[in-house]
Amino acid sequence: MIGSHRCRRAFASLSATRASIASPTHRGLKCGAIRWPKSVSLVEVGPRDGLQNELSTVPTEVKVELIDRLAAAGCKAIEAASFVSPKWVPQMADGDQVLANLGRAPGVKYAALTPNLRGLEAALEAGADEVAVFAAASEAFSSANINCSIVESLERFKPVMEKAKVAGLPVRGYVSCVLGCPYEGRVAPGAVAEVATSLLDMGCYSVSLGDTIGAGTAGSTLVLLETLREAGVPLEKVAVHFHDTYGQALANILVALEEGITVLDTSVSGLGGCPYAPGASGNVATEDVVYMLDGMGINTGVDLDLLLDTSLYISDKLGRPPQSRVARAMLAKRS
Ligand SMILES: [Zn+2]
Repeated sequence: MIGSHRCRRAFASLSATRASIASPTHRGLKCGAIRWPKSVSLVEVGPRDGLQNELSTVPTEVKVELIDRLAAAGCKAIEAASFVSPKWVPQMADGDQVLANLGRAPGVKYAALTPNLRGLEAALEAGADEVAVFAAASEAFSSANINCSIVESLERFKPVMEKAKVAGLPVRGYVSCVLGCPYEGRVAPGAVAEVATSLLDMGCYSVSLGDTIGAGTAGSTLVLLETLREAGVPLEKVAVHFHDTYGQALANILVALEEGITVLDTSVSGLGGCPYAPGASGNVATEDVVYMLDGMGINTGVDLDLLLDTSLYISDKLGRPPQSRVARAMLAKRS
């Protein structure tokens, strides 16, 4: 892979790409030829993507408290619930109750996952500010995770998109397995570009690229984003969603920032994993990302100390230490 023509070409175009991202939205800290964004939007996925994949089911009041604490720490976009069949995802069966009991901080968007029309109707009734649909870039993962082919999954979303549009609800698209599949191994970047394009064409305002098994590296992240760019996918509509299984998430995020990505999915305390992806550990921890971005002079609007308190709160409820290295280091300093 590293020696491939495609890969060399992507690396060769990196310097040109870095020069081209010096747009008004990329006027943060300057370091050599690289310009980082001045600010980055974080999408906090811990309460849904994170807790859904925890072994224990978390009580509704703990979820509500977690989400309210995240909002108080400065998180402006929080994935709060999922309206999927409780038969498949019992951890998320209380989505309506969670949304009904939130503090609803002003300026905060509370999102819900809605794979079908029934889910969308439930999310509308519960007052979600935004919904999300999800497809995979790998056929094997699609059939294991949502029991249908990639094309079938996209077809299923059409009525969801139509109804959401009528209701004026923004829809986010997720693509999973963008840098590797637990069943198929390597996933072609072109396949990711196709699914991302389909989701945007269907009306998603943004597409989040998920490295579900956390196998991606700085090199494969760069090739993926370059492939999307070449395929005409507008990177300003792309978010990245890294899992930290191999400890590569921060490096991958750095590459994504240099490629012009300004929306990052993160999970407080590194909550999460994936029941259909053996060995996959949690999402990249919000604390780790905020610490890195603070150090780079990139604004996230999130207060790291309040975030640490929130991380400790949910970790305590789950009966284990935070997965975040930054949280552990800050905690050691506190005591
Ligand atoms: Zn995830």
